[in-house]
This record gives sequence, C-alpha cells and structure tokens, in this order.
Amino acid sequence: MSSARARPLVVGTGIAGLWAAWRLASEGHDVLLVTKATLQDSNTAWAQGGIAVALDAADSPAQHAADTIAASDGLADPIAVEVLTREGPDRVRELLELGAVFDRDADGELRFGLEAAHSRARILHAEGDRTGAMLVAALSKVVLGNPRIEVRQHCRVRRLLRRGDRVVGAILLNDAGEPEAVAAPAVILATGGCGQLFEITTNPPVATADGWALAHSAGAVLSHLEFLQFHPTALHVPGVNPAPLLTEALRGAGAWLVDAKGERFVFDADPRGEMAPRDIVARAVAHRAYRGGAFLDARHLPNVEQAFPGVAALVAAHGLSLAHDLLPVAPAMHYAMGGIRTDLAGGSTVAGLWAVGECANTGVHGANRLASNSLLEGLVFADRAGRAVGELLAGSPKVPSFAPAPTDWDAGTDAGPIATAFRARMRSFLTREVGLVRTEPGLAEAELAIADLRRRVPSGAWHTADQLRIAAEIARAARGRRESRGGHRRADFPNPKPRITA
Ligand SMILES: Cc1cc2nc3c(=O)[nH]c(=O)nc-3n(C[C@H](O)[C@H](O)[C@H](O)COP(=O)(O)OP(=O)(O)OC[C@H]3O[C@@H](n4cnc5c(N)ncnc54)[C@H](O)[C@@H]3O)c2cc1C
Repeated sequence: MSSARARPLVVGTGIAGLWAAWRLASEGHDVLLVTKATLQDSNTAWAQGGIAVALDAADSPAQHAADTIAASDGLADPIAVEVLTREGPDRVRELLELGAVFDRDADGELRFGLEAAHSRARILHAEGDRTGAMLVAALSKVVLGNPRIEVRQHCRVRRLLRRGDRVVGAILLNDAGEPEAVAAPAVILATGGCGQLFEITTNPPVATADGWALAHSAGAVLSHLEFLQFHPTALHVPGVNPAPLLTEALRGAGAWLVDAKGERFVFDADPRGEMAPRDIVARAVAHRAYRGGAFLDARHLPNVEQAFPGVAALVAAHGLSLAHDLLPVAPAMHYAMGGIRTDLAGGSTVAGLWAVGECANTGVHGANRLASNSLLEGLVFADRAGRAVGELLAGSPKVPSFAPAPTDWDAGTDAGPIATAFRARMRSFLTREVGLVRTEPGLAEAELAIADLRRRVPSGAWHTADQLRIAAEIARAARGRRESRGGHRRADFPNPKPRITA
C-alpha cells in the first residue's frame, strides 16, 4: 500500500515535468513520474508556434529580457527574467543534444520565426507548427529509456500529504480509483494550466488547475491568478471544446485580421496592428466578433498549408481551408501567468513542495506573457528545481510511510449530472464575469455564485470541489486588483495604478 522509498515525485508530463524528471535522473536520482492521462495529453503536446530563445548570433539574452519585461506590463521580476533568458540558450542546446529536431534553413542553420511583441525573430519551431508534439516525443523517449525514471500514466495525484510544515508525499489514484500513498522527500508539481475552468479554451481536457488546488489545500501561496491570457485567434466553432488554435506565428508570417467587410481592424486599437500584444488583439477581436464577425485571413501567404501543416489539418477537420477560406475567430482562454508562488529554484512557500512550468508563478511573465516564453520557462525552471531537489536528496532525508485515509479511496462522483452541471455554471460565470473584461458588479456576482456552488457541491465530487476552490481564488484575485494591467482588464478601472519603485 505505501512506499517509503525516498524517491521524489514529479507530477505531470509536459515539458516541465519531463525535464525535471530527466534532470533528477541525470544527477543520479531515482524518480517517480506520474501523469493523469497519457504522455500525449498536455498543453505542451499542443504547442504550435515554438520556443523563444536568444540563440541567433544577432540576438542576445539582454534583448530577449527587454522584450519579456516590456510585455509583462511592469510586473515581471527582472531577476527571474534574467535567469530565463540567460540560461535558456544552454537548456535549448541540451534539448538539441537529447534529440529535439527544430526546423532549419537550406544551409542547415536553425530557422527563427517572429511572433508578436518580440523585437526580432527568435522562435524555434518544428515541422512548422508541430513544436509541442516534437518536444513531447523527444523527451518521452528520453524518460522512458531512463532506468532511473518510473513513468506511470493514468495516475492522478488526488491529494498532497503533509507532516508538520512539510509536504511528504501524495495520494495517487489509478483509473480504477485504487489509491496508493507514496512517501516522497520532494514533490514537484508540473501540472500545467487552468483553461478548462473556462467555456472557451485552447487547453486540452487535462488542464483543470489540479496543481493549484493541490498546492492551495496544502497551504502554499498562489499569486497573480488574475492575470490570464486569452489567445486572440481560436477558430470559432460553437460548442467545440477545446477550441482549435490558429497560432500567432500565422500573424507573424503576415496573416491579417479582418471584419465581415474584409477590412483590417486591429490598427484601430494599436499602431502595431496584428503584431500588437495579445491582450490588445484579443479585445479587438472580441469587439468585432460580437459585431458581425472577426476572421483570420491567411489566403495570401505563399504555401501556407505546407508552412502550417498542423493548423491546416485542424481547420480542415471543420470543413475549412487555410489557403482558401476566411477563418472565423474568437478569443479563448489560453495561458495563466500566475500560479503557485515560487522562488528561483521552483520552491513553493511550503517545504517539500516545488512547482514548475505553467502551474508556477516564477515572476517571469508579470501581468502578461511574451509569446512562446512558456516552453522556455518550463525548461529553465524545471532544470533549476531538478538540481535543487537533487541537492536536497544528497542529504538522504528520511520520509515516513503512509496508508490512505478512507476518504482517499473515493475515485469521485464528478462524472454525475449534478457535478457536471455545477462545473458548467462555474465555467459560465468565469467566462462571462472573469474573462477578457471585468467589472466590480460582475466579479461580485461571480464570487457569490461560486461560493454558493461550493456550499452545495455533491459530497464525493472532489475534483469539481477542487475546481470551484480555484475558481473562487481567481475571482477573488481579479476583484482585488482595482486597475487594468496586462491580462487583467477592468472596465471600471481602465488604467494601471502607478507603481512605486525603490
Ligand atoms: C494550443 C496551445 C498552443 C500553445 N503554443 C505555445 C507555443 O507555441 N509556445 C509556448 O511557449 N507556449 C505555447 N503554449 C503554452 C504552453 O504549451 C504551456 O504553457 C506549456 O506547455 C506548459 O507546460 P507544463 O509542462 O507546465 O504543463 P503541461 O504541458 O500542460 O503538462 C501538464 C501535465 O500535468 C498532468 N497533470 C495535471 N494534473 C494532474 C494530476 N492531478 N495528476 C497527475 N498529472 C496531472 C497533465 O496530464 C499533463 O501531463 C500553448 C498552449 C496551447 C494550449
């Protein structure tokens, strides 16, 4: 039932979890790596545009850092940004050595793409727009081939175990709902995003903010949850969840956003037009989508279906053609800037608990993420967390063994109609009142509605209760920030508050 082997537990198999597990194993430690679905189910696997890194001879970490800070709307931690951009090139070189294959030009040189708010082309990509799939394939091969890493798929972390002031393990549930208590000297959460708490999202079904709920119930601090990034160009097909993403790289390559009359409209909002920061483009798209329709026009791009094969296939699945059709678009919840607050080595505010990747708030994104910085953040900070946990293990910490409590035996009643209806209401409130544009009355209504759902959630529907816990935290954070900044837009407080700097 219980295991007292002092193996660290890594939760999640996106770029951050795969890398943290590999780093620990490469330092000589045994690791248990669990993921709640398969190795193919993660935001990482779906990443299209690529990974931003200052590797080109004409680029520099300082320039990448300046762009990251500019995009963050005043809230990025400059030290975290410096770590990200300075260590990024070495991590990507290691990634190449481990088997990652990025697109190259005819001379064999790495080919860098351009995305919004980057001052130069610095996005590495694979097979055009299949970067995430390539990364997952390459890193999965690495972890599956490493005898120090035990990989368990369809294995969900249900709850973290705490002794005194430390996290000392977790309750795992397999698909049959059988619990297992594992003792661990360190738990690294790499559980990804929260998109599925919203009605329209680009995130896959596994993105239900589990890591935030696990950490919060273990007492860890969550921060900056109000800063959410809505992607401006999800294909607008009502009722389809997740919404297919039309990568920003399409606009980087010259695609236009047009209204029902065929006129480009983003210049009305920002002189950078289609290459303005995501929050500005997303609001412009939402405005037009509501008044007659907003469309992505990539028909004039040469060989567009060969350059973007993944998007071409996604679009074709809905009877549309990238080369011949105007594509209806709407903004969709895409990325969470905030999360489990960490230090520069991924350490949370609770001993024994680390967080890396999208579920963490390292400070690199501030109020708004620069496009394609998240895969790099996953690599850089997972590496740091892996090394930090490795150092902890060198001291051979003792870990107690556990047996699951009776309540942990329950696989949950979340599939029932009542829990499903509760989640639908939560998604509706978050989307309407805690979405692209927020107001005091709307946020107050959302807070009350979510509190009511939390009181009445069916007993046993613990995964729904976890999601409601986080929905309440997001609404609270959004209500508490009485200004507009980055991914947080208040109609009633339209300007940023002046920031006091030392
Ligand atoms: C469509 C799309 C396109 C994107 N394109 C780009 C891009 O081009 N460039 C870029 O930088 N970023 C992009 N992003 C964002 C980026 O993909 C993510 O921020 C990043 O991949 C997150 O990596 P991660 O390892 O933190 O989490 P994820 O890749 O989301 O992995 C989370 C893992 O945790 C597992 N998990 C969750 N809860 C539990 C639990 N309770 N128990 C066990 N396992 C659990 C999940 O199953 C999954 O394996 C994109 C995102 C999407 C959705």
